[in-house]
Amino acid sequence: MAGSGLVVRDVSVGYGAVRALRQVSLEVPDGSVVTVLGANGAGKSTLLRALSRTLSFHGGAVTGGGITFDGRPLERPVDAGVCHVPEGRRVFARMTVADNLRAGALGARGTRADRAAALDRVHRLFPVLAERARQPAGLLSGGEQQMLAVGRALMAAPRLLLLDEPSLGLAPQMAARIARTIGEINEEGTAVLLVEQNAALALRLATHAYVLEVGEVTLAGPAAELAASDEVRRRYLGVV
Ligand code: ATP
Repeated sequence: MAGSGLVVRDVSVGYGAVRALRQVSLEVPDGSVVTVLGANGAGKSTLLRALSRTLSFHGGAVTGGGITFDGRPLERPVDAGVCHVPEGRRVFARMTVADNLRAGALGARGTRADRAAALDRVHRLFPVLAERARQPAGLLSGGEQQMLAVGRALMAAPRLLLLDEPSLGLAPQMAARIARTIGEINEEGTAVLLVEQNAALALRLATHAYVLEVGEVTLAGPAAELAASDEVRRRYLGVV
């Protein structure tokens, strides 16, 4: 993301007559963790889809990695250095763990050595994916499938990882394990944009946070500041 990271300016998205995002602006500086909080239907998943260049939008622009994206889906979204781990993991259940990881590198630029280095990194972060390389991904537990979904995205060596609800449906211990690994991935230089129903976990990991309400950014600031705000505590952290 050459220098300044991902910059989103005034992006609006509609599904037919439904306006899902209205002039959303945000920034994900290089190497940072940024979180987006919001109630169900606020537009968080839509935002990640627009940023991964898989959904078209009207108005506004997204700049990062030397590419400005004006709303038309890119033919090769992977070139923008952004990888999206969608909600619900969506691993290829009948394919082996190893083949799922290989699929993550498809279409990515880079040499065989780059791919081998990416695979080493994934196996170091998630040793269970090496142990279970030959098993169908559908046999993994929910937490392991989440690891595989993240690992698959890392195979393209993204500069920015978009994570949609990585802890959803996981036992607290597994959610904590995934959160630790997100921290490690970030320490190694990958920026992360995190959407997470567990707002406490997200605000601990993030440096900056945004609140999205009915498609609009209504609050933004350092994560620690938002975590201390009465409104965020009441609405997203369940503190009365
Ligand atoms: P959740 O946490 O429930 O997934 P979200 O914050 O991610 O919510 P989105 O899924 O982005 O919200 O949805 C934003 C708005 O767009 C909602 O009103 C939703 O009903 C609508 N929407 C989402 N996807 C579509 C679609 N494919 N077609 C039509 N409307 C959609």
